[in-house]
Amino acid sequence: MRTLLINGSVWTSFGQLTNALLIEDGRVLALGSDALSGSADQTIDLAGAFVMPAFADGHAHPLFAGREAQGPKVNGLQSVAEIVAEVKQFAEASPDSKWIIGGAYEAAIVERGDFDSHWLDEAVNDRPVLLHAVDHHTIWVNNKALEIAGITSATKDPDGGTIARRADGSPKGTLREPAAMDLISKLAPERTLQDELDAIAWASDQYLAAGVTSAMDAWVEDGMTEIYIEAAKTGHLKVDMNLTFLAQPEKWRSRVNYYNEMRALVEALPVEAGLTAKSVKFIGDGALSAGTAAILEPYLDDPTSKGLLIWSDAEMIEAATTFDKAGLQLHIHAIGDAAVRQALDAIEAVIASNPSWDRRPVITHAQLIDPIDLPRFAALGVIANFQPLWTYLDPMNKELILPRIGETRNNQQYQLRKVIDSGAQLSFGSDWPITDFTPLVALAVPVHRQSPDRQPLQGWSIEQAITIEESMD
Ligand SMILES: [Zn+2]
Repeated sequence: MRTLLINGSVWTSFGQLTNALLIEDGRVLALGSDALSGSADQTIDLAGAFVMPAFADGHAHPLFAGREAQGPKVNGLQSVAEIVAEVKQFAEASPDSKWIIGGAYEAAIVERGDFDSHWLDEAVNDRPVLLHAVDHHTIWVNNKALEIAGITSATKDPDGGTIARRADGSPKGTLREPAAMDLISKLAPERTLQDELDAIAWASDQYLAAGVTSAMDAWVEDGMTEIYIEAAKTGHLKVDMNLTFLAQPEKWRSRVNYYNEMRALVEALPVEAGLTAKSVKFIGDGALSAGTAAILEPYLDDPTSKGLLIWSDAEMIEAATTFDKAGLQLHIHAIGDAAVRQALDAIEAVIASNPSWDRRPVITHAQLIDPIDLPRFAALGVIANFQPLWTYLDPMNKELILPRIGETRNNQQYQLRKVIDSGAQLSFGSDWPITDFTPLVALAVPVHRQSPDRQPLQGWSIEQAITIEESMD
């Protein structure tokens, strides 16, 4: 079936427009006058409407988004009362759920992020409730969950994890890091494969409705590839998806073979399945809002701290070199300028020691970049992956980050203009479900450096604004 679109405004590449498009079975056959002179089974008059290629999301967590959508929708809620109300409503509507599991709540709305189990008891006290925070390193539970897990004042913090406590030593309801989180989460009913497939189908449908036809899952841990493979085989995966295996300090060595096996299984799928597994994710540091991003100059609210690098330089280089040699694209989370420098150093070392190939390394978030490091993106061929919806003075930048790093550094976040002018390649990702996945909500934000509803009027560090064509490209 050949379809001819006429009288449109058809975006073909950077700033290039034509009026007509001839397509057959999802493939573009011709543009402009060539399209108009072709034969078609049907002709659609666009009456001036705008047409552009579908969007690709360069950094997101669609399976996590789908999972979250199956529980209480606490994402983005800005008060404890709102979260508790949502949990209560969800629990009442789901009388058969033995556990109420959901996420991801914004930890910053409570001082030090210590949430109290009693607050959740107001919503549900006869069944366990388990919510995870946006950082995926923290959970908040009700008393029933603490009781089932047998966690009391007498319970010691497990190695590598912490149990937040009240003044009397009793557990408060917030647990940090997997070692502590697992004390409770291991008791929760396992998600069924059907739950996981439904989550992927739901995320796919959301994407398609927003014009997104391909995405990167930027956090693939054990068990997730198997789920995606099943989703691709059964038609639950409806967009093209590239998987990014998670590499973690120490653990990565034991994952090299497993990831190779998973890749082989993905590569054995037919191309139409739309699934690839070509990338590996490193998390270089934390977040500026939590004071855990690794920065070159100390935090203002804690002059003894420059945040935390998660990897040693040597181990990041060793792991990156190993995975690059295996043909995986590097995708490094680096938010502070010290983490960005470490990531660039690692990529530089990889390029120096491994044979050259079309490696297209990515540094994602790149919120602060030291002026000395900025030209290195272009020089090393590193793609800067930004989240367009983060590039305005939102409450996080204003209330959590500004007091920690001061006005000057706060305003130096997201130097999109400078990165483009340096000749480096830019890409965009939503980081869904952390932020909205809809490109049409996000794309104007880096152009005006204003919120989607155009606040504040003068924008934010407007000298870093880019054009709408650059944003769409
Ligand atoms: Zn992410």
